[in-house]
Amino acid sequence: MIIANWKCNGSIEMMLSWTDDYVKECDDIHTFDTFVGVAPPSIYFETFSVEISHLNILGGVQDIDYLDGSRTGAISVDMLIDLGCDFSIIGHSERRQIFNEDNNLIRKKLKSLNEKIMTILCIGETKEENDKGITKDVLKNQLEIVNGLDLDTQFTVAYEPVWAIGSGITPKPKDINEIHKYIKDVVQSNSVNNRTPKVLYGGSVTDKNAESFFTEEFVDGALVGGASLDGSSFASIVNIFNGIDK
Ligand code: PEP
Repeated sequence: MIIANWKCNGSIEMMLSWTDDYVKECDDIHTFDTFVGVAPPSIYFETFSVEISHLNILGGVQDIDYLDGSRTGAISVDMLIDLGCDFSIIGHSERRQIFNEDNNLIRKKLKSLNEKIMTILCIGETKEENDKGITKDVLKNQLEIVNGLDLDTQFTVAYEPVWAIGSGITPKPKDINEIHKYIKDVVQSNSVNNRTPKVLYGGSVTDKNAESFFTEEFVDGALVGGASLDGSSFASIVNIFNGIDK
């Protein structure tokens, strides 16, 4: 599974050239089985959906609100179902840091999406937490979001160390692998239906380093920020993933 998170970037013009570049670079776009998803800014979701309708790409969003009604500026799950949205990212560290989102709110979002729209829950430790050697404790705390929930089959976690996002620095692939195994075990034991999720790695993934992550046993794919803004770089990452026997 390879997911693009465009964050608050892009324009109508960019979307048109992005798909052209993606198609030129991506091998055999009609036959591979990989889940490839792109989350543009929600305001562009419909236009982008039309652009990708002939491709093996699914359209998603970067966040949602957990209720509808008197919530100015919000976009609800039912509205996204109306638009044919295939997945939503939630819990991104930028949402936690800039918009002060906490586990309590993110759990409400997960509950509103569960069994309706596939969820990608982002978790990750800060540099300071990593330096202190408390990464697993931090992740365990963030994963309390799934406690006691019956998780749907497509529930996915993205491990995104905050210090790796947009920095060009990444953990070593073997360390990522160990953390992914840990995440799978925690979710498996904390969810009511003992769901073992797919776990994606996110944080400075490019077409230069992607292979080193994808060859690790417990890395099920990537969540890509910066490098996904270029259709041809993103397609290269998809090609690399498809070349690895998972
Ligand atoms: C992200 O923020 O989800 C992300 C993966 O960003 P980048 O690839 O730019 O580090």
